[in-house]
Amino acid sequence: MDKIVSLCKRRGFLFQSSEIYGGVQGFWDYGPLGVELKRNLKEAWWHDMISGHNELVAPPEAPSPFEMVGLDCTIIMHPQVWKNSGHYDLFHDHMVDCRESKKRYRFDQVRGRWCQKGDQKIFVTTLAEAEQELDEVRRRAMKFFKLRAKNADQLTVSDESLTLDQLDDTDDVLAPDAKSLGTLTEPREFNLMFKTTLGALGGEDDVTFLRPETAQGIFVNFKNVLDSSRVKVPFGIGQIGKSFRNEITPRNFTFRSREFEQMEIEFFCQPDQSQQWYRYWRDRRLAWYTALGLSSNSLIMREHHPEELAHYSVGTADIEYAFPFLPPGEYGELEGIAHRGDFDLRSHMEGKLDPKSPEGQPMQVELNEHGKPKYRGSGKDLSYRNEVTNERFVPHVIEPSAGADRAALAFLCEAYTEDEAPNDKGEMESRVVMKLHPRLAPIKAAVFPLVKKGGMSEIAKEVYGELKQHLNVFYDDKGTVGRRYRRQDEAGTPYCITVDGDSLEDRTVTIRDRDTLEQTRVKIDDLTTELKQRLA
Ligand code: ATP
Repeated sequence: MDKIVSLCKRRGFLFQSSEIYGGVQGFWDYGPLGVELKRNLKEAWWHDMISGHNELVAPPEAPSPFEMVGLDCTIIMHPQVWKNSGHYDLFHDHMVDCRESKKRYRFDQVRGRWCQKGDQKIFVTTLAEAEQELDEVRRRAMKFFKLRAKNADQLTVSDESLTLDQLDDTDDVLAPDAKSLGTLTEPREFNLMFKTTLGALGGEDDVTFLRPETAQGIFVNFKNVLDSSRVKVPFGIGQIGKSFRNEITPRNFTFRSREFEQMEIEFFCQPDQSQQWYRYWRDRRLAWYTALGLSSNSLIMREHHPEELAHYSVGTADIEYAFPFLPPGEYGELEGIAHRGDFDLRSHMEGKLDPKSPEGQPMQVELNEHGKPKYRGSGKDLSYRNEVTNERFVPHVIEPSAGADRAALAFLCEAYTEDEAPNDKGEMESRVVMKLHPRLAPIKAAVFPLVKKGGMSEIAKEVYGELKQHLNVFYDDKGTVGRRYRRQDEAGTPYCITVDGDSLEDRTVTIRDRDTLEQTRVKIDDLTTELKQRLA
């Protein structure tokens, strides 16, 4: 992982935000190569999910044809949105402070206590304690420990304790210096939303939040989209945008950041077809990652244990990737695909629903001390009428929710390769090559004159000018050709085009393939078409 982090900085994929001032934890800037990679990734998602979707034919394995449209909503929304979505009350992590060092830790990093076992001092994590807390806390604790327990079957809610002996990697569970922790304060709730105030005189009523997910913008615009675009259920709305979470311990490079981008779809369907659509989206989203180059050996689809499911969810699956910063056998979430029932639309209509309603019973509106709903809904009718059957219902929602930064990180990790290639003298030499999928590669081709003299530069500049109109290409005439190849290999550029002595005679150039190292001669007049075909 260190090699990947250092390449990202050296080649301009990623920089720490505000680095000249010492940086700010959990915030990252994309450099000249990184910004192209992330744009390509988001464009691939937008094309494959939204703009390139053909609504006239059912895609393979889909229950029926369906429509997809896009949205771009604001980051700051009406405060009521977050009350009815549940984020205001439930979007918490739990933190503890070490009384001695004054350092702060996330609850799930250090929950537990030191015990004496014979002459050994061991750290015991008790799930029984978590059980007494909010359901949400228990759910998070279960998810956290279940992922990390060597033998997941041993871990149930009724388990009294889980010792570190049963965990794979203590450093991942505890902050590095947590082993020397003294006494900890009691866990305190910490809402992960960034607070802000509307207007100059903002009082308590003007307090709102930077969105912690893009999804709510879609739900509150459901009716606008229905009325303006005349889409029919089943259909999906997609959005790409920034989200903010004040993570207590941002870590693992960009994996857990405080500002990040999400690519989310809310797919609205008939309740009786929702399970089919849930399965469809799970499989389709997994296939998207492998089509863009993630190895299926490094990916898993993890169905949530019933204990982990949010109260309203009938099913949730995470697509997870074996990031190199995790111990062998562990995976980190790339995307969650959740069956959310009608929870969100109903909450925005009727007010916040009681998350503690017993399973299988209709959701109850949570009442305040005056017997009125705790948070008022919009009062707007967000139900849908099937024009054929005349049936009216609140659609069920399947939500494939992906992170653009986590996906970019996974593609960078997957692409990093060390192998050998011939140098200028034809001897094999080790090289670092980023084997990024051509759709994701920041630079699609680089153009080199073999030497600057003898008219080669003029032809190379002409080739560059022509290609630049169609593709992101790069011109380089510095250093030996071998060195120039190496620089492009590290940037993940799939093709290098060299103008040499023969080009002056016959107006042909060589195309060198980054992965196979194969070189072919192509007429300059055919170059754009040839590259477009290879990159498609
Ligand atoms: P985690 O359990 O890792 O905190 P989550 O289950 O809270 O993630 P979701 O709320 O389902 O995440 O968000 C959907 C997607 O958004 C995640 O799969 C991930 O790709 C991305 N995401 C969420 N939190 C972050 C973060 N702090 N930094 C970067 N990406 C994130």
